[in-house]
Amino acid sequence: MYGRYSYRAAAILLALLACLGLRASSASAAVSLTQTEGGFHFEFTSELPYMLLRYCTGSESGTLVLPGDEGRYTGDVPLMKQPVKQNARVEVSTPAGLVVEKANLPLKPEAVKRINPDRDAVRKVTDLTLIPGDKAVGIRFTAPGHHQVIVRISSAVQNMRFTLNEAENGVFDCTVPLRCVYPRDLVTVTVQSLNERTLAKGDVRTLFSPIDAGETAPEGPLHGVKVCIDPGHQALPVYGGRVYQYPGSDKLVSGGNSTMAQGNKTQRKESVAVLEISYHLCRLLREAGAEVVMTRWEEEVSVTNMERAEYANAQNADYFLRIHLNNSSDHTQNGVYVYGPSRSPYARSLMPIERYRDTAQTIADEMVASTRVRGGCVRMSDQFVGSNYAKMVTFLIECGFLSTPANDWILTTSDYQIKIARGIVNGLVRVVRGDLEPYRPHR
Ligand SMILES: [Zn+2]
Repeated sequence: MYGRYSYRAAAILLALLACLGLRASSASAAVSLTQTEGGFHFEFTSELPYMLLRYCTGSESGTLVLPGDEGRYTGDVPLMKQPVKQNARVEVSTPAGLVVEKANLPLKPEAVKRINPDRDAVRKVTDLTLIPGDKAVGIRFTAPGHHQVIVRISSAVQNMRFTLNEAENGVFDCTVPLRCVYPRDLVTVTVQSLNERTLAKGDVRTLFSPIDAGETAPEGPLHGVKVCIDPGHQALPVYGGRVYQYPGSDKLVSGGNSTMAQGNKTQRKESVAVLEISYHLCRLLREAGAEVVMTRWEEEVSVTNMERAEYANAQNADYFLRIHLNNSSDHTQNGVYVYGPSRSPYARSLMPIERYRDTAQTIADEMVASTRVRGGCVRMSDQFVGSNYAKMVTFLIECGFLSTPANDWILTTSDYQIKIARGIVNGLVRVVRGDLEPYRPHR
């Protein structure tokens, strides 16, 4: 369980146990660590559904977000070997940052002989090529006169340093697995000589791999319903110009794009996280029998908010679901927000505003039931151009807070993204069935 009840209960329990000098065995059992061929293996148990594992050796560190499998947590972490004596220090914490276990693993270092460079070795590398992978980066370059170099790799949550031997004649070539990076994560690579003079430096973003969006099932509770999903934002800039806020309004606003949220801890962009959620949402809606289209399927596109509404209109969708993630200066916020229409004449011509409120409340409630977040709030607003110009039932859904560290961590897992998508689908099934939750005003 994630949310107010589980975290607060666990935090209070752990604080009490700490006061009593007892072991926090109810939240997490001791971590078992074993060295493997290419790194180490870990195992522990916890009653919480998500846990963080931080590891640090003399030469690398990273943070893994782990969804539990019925209370069990297990996996492998690859390590780049270093010719130094070192330990792996491992720390297990809740996504809210509460440390519940610490452990140490003595590593048997691999002996690597130092091979000094030639006298006339180059002082600059001019052909550093970085090849983006899914959870890896390929590194190629030539450094005549060097037989060994130091490679440093850093992303928001993973850092490493290792010695790389030349493949042949000053040519260096390797692919480094990066266990902790995310799709479209920025990875910085620095190549140094053995005396730590920088020879080259470059950046690359890891790849975004589409998630299988499946096919529409021939039957299901959403059979005959067409949904347009709008994954908010994108990687490329957009130029939307000025447009009237909604048809009939005299207020001019930007028709392009709005500023996106970014992960507090992971630095993940909202555009990437909502695209992942949207893929899962598409698959689950299709499994329920709905016909589904999306305003974008990739990160490297440029679609204005006005174009998103126009696409949904051209597709003749019954529902337009706009998927976003929230940002707040209060880093403890933990809830979903469903925004319905306010003054858009298109929206108002479809059904009474009260029915929009009840529909939004139904979706919000099902999302809360699925994710166990603190609250599901409904807001009626005319601030979104992309919603105001859509000619079908439209909701903008803020699925969580990237500014809240615990939310940011678990939003990286497909496990939690599916819970969000599942809640939206369950809500829409109730809406189509006419089983609406009455709107409850929030503070
Ligand atoms: Zn957004």
